[in-house]
Amino acid sequence: MPELPEVETIANGLHKRVAGDRIDSVWVGNKKEPLKSKPAEIVRTLEGAAIERVHRVGKHIVFHLHPSNDRGAASGRPESHKNSQFIVHLGMTGRMLVATAETETAKHTHLIAKLASGRELRFVDPRRFGRLEVRQTGFSGPGSEPTTITQEEFARLFHKSSAFIKAALLNQKFLHGVGNIYADESLIRAGIRPRRRANTLTTAELKKLHAALQQVLKEAIAAGGSSVSDYVDADGEKGYFQIKHRAYGREGKPCLKCKTPIKKIVVGGRGTHYCPNCQR
Ligand SMILES: [Zn+2]
Repeated sequence: MPELPEVETIANGLHKRVAGDRIDSVWVGNKKEPLKSKPAEIVRTLEGAAIERVHRVGKHIVFHLHPSNDRGAASGRPESHKNSQFIVHLGMTGRMLVATAETETAKHTHLIAKLASGRELRFVDPRRFGRLEVRQTGFSGPGSEPTTITQEEFARLFHKSSAFIKAALLNQKFLHGVGNIYADESLIRAGIRPRRRANTLTTAELKKLHAALQQVLKEAIAAGGSSVSDYVDADGEKGYFQIKHRAYGREGKPCLKCKTPIKKIVVGGRGTHYCPNCQR
């Protein structure tokens, strides 16, 4: 499943390719699972709309739409549709492709938006855990944005929670978009055990964890920047961007700092890796 840095890279790649283009017509498949909004509403919202901007919110790709000058006005789009959004969650295997019209339609294609430029935006998802949704109002997700949250806000989130810190990091009501890999990687960098209760963390520890999480996400986004085209255009199954993992997936291997074997436990139902010596 793509995590925050992958989604950020994909969203940025889509922005570079399709911002300023216009959606002329939309085809929606007959499989119900990927459609969080009604098919007719998706078609009505997308058709004739110009794509102003594409960006990441949590683990969602958000297309900001605007009725285009020539068709929007003529279509009698209600005033409230002026700032509509097309929201895509890739789920496990979802891909958002920018293809030429001649490109053969892949199996498991659930939506095709024909663009004024002649290209097509296609949503392909074999396992159908991805979701497509349209909204007429702003979408910001439930929790705070981990890459920009201030240290003070971050501390305030965890101050009152008695959950394990690992589980609290994954709780989307606190921070949106932090997944298993980046939770483990930020905890080992901050020297904090995954099973510490969030409300037992000192101010200094919370400061370290805040810095570690933002650093890890920043590194992963930077590492992904160069492979945008692969992700958006090709098979989309390149795996995770390679930041050097210190904990995640390294069970039994020596800690890069102290050589103690990395331990694997389960916290909140998720496989969790940590160094029993470096993390307290
Ligand atoms: Zn260690």
